[in-house]
Amino acid sequence: MKNAYLTIRNLFKNFADFTALRDISLQVREGEFICFLGPSGCGKTTLLRAIAGLDLQSDGEIYQGGRDISWLPPEQRDFGIVFQSYALFPNLTVADNIGYGLRNLKTRSHQVRSRVNELLATVGLSGSNNKYPRQLSGGQQQRVALARAIATNPGLLLLDEPLSALDAQVRRHLRQEIKTLQQQVGITTIMVTHDQEEALSMADRIVVMNQGVIEQIGTPEQIYASPASSFVASFVGTMNFLSGQAQSDRSVQIGDKTVRCDTPNPLLGQSGKPLQVAIRPEDIRVRSGKDRSNPLPAAVQRLEFLGSFVRTELELDGIDAPLIADLSMNDIRDLNIRVGSQLQLDLPQQHIHLFDQPS
Ligand code: ATP
Repeated sequence: MKNAYLTIRNLFKNFADFTALRDISLQVREGEFICFLGPSGCGKTTLLRAIAGLDLQSDGEIYQGGRDISWLPPEQRDFGIVFQSYALFPNLTVADNIGYGLRNLKTRSHQVRSRVNELLATVGLSGSNNKYPRQLSGGQQQRVALARAIATNPGLLLLDEPLSALDAQVRRHLRQEIKTLQQQVGITTIMVTHDQEEALSMADRIVVMNQGVIEQIGTPEQIYASPASSFVASFVGTMNFLSGQAQSDRSVQIGDKTVRCDTPNPLLGQSGKPLQVAIRPEDIRVRSGKDRSNPLPAAVQRLEFLGSFVRTELELDGIDAPLIADLSMNDIRDLNIRVGSQLQLDLPQQHIHLFDQPS
C-alpha cells in the first residue's frame, strides 16, 4: 500500500497454548479511521494492545511511520489511547487531566493552559477546566479522555470500545463527534468495537475479525455489499442463508428450483457441490410484472411492521428454511400482502452471494 503509516506483519499472540491472534497482516494509511470489528473474544483488544505495546505479540512486526516499534515499551511509542471506562485521574481537574502528558513533556505552563483551552473547545467543554471527573456525565468524561489522548499530538489514536459504556443516545451523538474530530485533526485512528453500526458509520475501512484471524478488510460498503465469507455476511447486517448445490457455472439449485447468478463464480465450477446461497432481506423483491430474474413461489407466514419497512417471514415452496424479506409499505399495500398471501419472489442475480457449506 502506498503511504502506509502503520504496517502490521504476520503478527501472532499466544496465551499459553491458546492462539489469540494468528498471522495478522494489515496496513493503515495516514489519516485513516480503521475499526476492528468482531464478536467478543475474537482478538480485537489483543491486537490493539500489541500496537500500543501494552501486551507484546509472540511473533511478528509492527512499523509506525517507517519506525520498527515491534518490541518498544509503550512510553517509547507515539499514540494516545482511550479506554471503555473513562480512566481519567479522579483526583485531578479536567484541565490537569488533559494537560498531564504535556506537563510530562516539560511544556511551559502558559502553553499547557492554551492547549487545554483549545482542546476543551474542540470537544465542546469550554469552561470545564476546574471540574473534577465525578462532576461530569459519562459522555463528557469520554470527551475529556479524547482531549487528553490527542493533547500531545500523537501520530496514532487508539480507541478501545470508547462508547460502549454510554447509553444509546449519547453513544450515537458522540459517534458523530469523534468522527468529526478525527477528520478535523486528521489523526490516524484505530477503534475497537463489536458494534457493527458503529463500525459502518465511522470507519473508512473495517477489519472484520473472527477467532484470531482477519476475515475481511474493506470499506463499510464493500463489507456490507460483498462479504468475503459467510461469517462476515452473517455478522454484519442481516442475511438469509439457503442450502443449495452448484448446477452450472451460472446457476445453483435450491430445492427443486434453479436460481441464476450474475457472474460466474469459482464455487459453481463443480456441479453438485453443496453451497450456501445468501441474500439480504432488503434485496428480495416481490414483483407482479415479468421482470423477475429468479422467481420463487412463497407464502407469507408473518408480517412485522418496523416503521420504514415491513419484515416479512416467508415459507418457500418445497424448501425448509424460512426466508426474511424487508418489503416497503408500498409493496405491502399495492400487492395487498397479508399473512397467508402467495407471492412470487424475485432474487435479483446481482445480490446473490455464494459461500462454501461449513464443514
Ligand atoms: P471483547 O470484545 O470481549 O473484549 P476481544 O475481541 O477484544 O473481545 P480479546 O480481549 O482480544 O478479545 O481476547 C481474545 C482472546 O484471548 C479471548 O479468547 C481471551 O479470552 C483471550 N485472552 C485475552 N487476554 C488474555 C490473557 N491475559 N490470558 C489468557 N487469555 C487471554
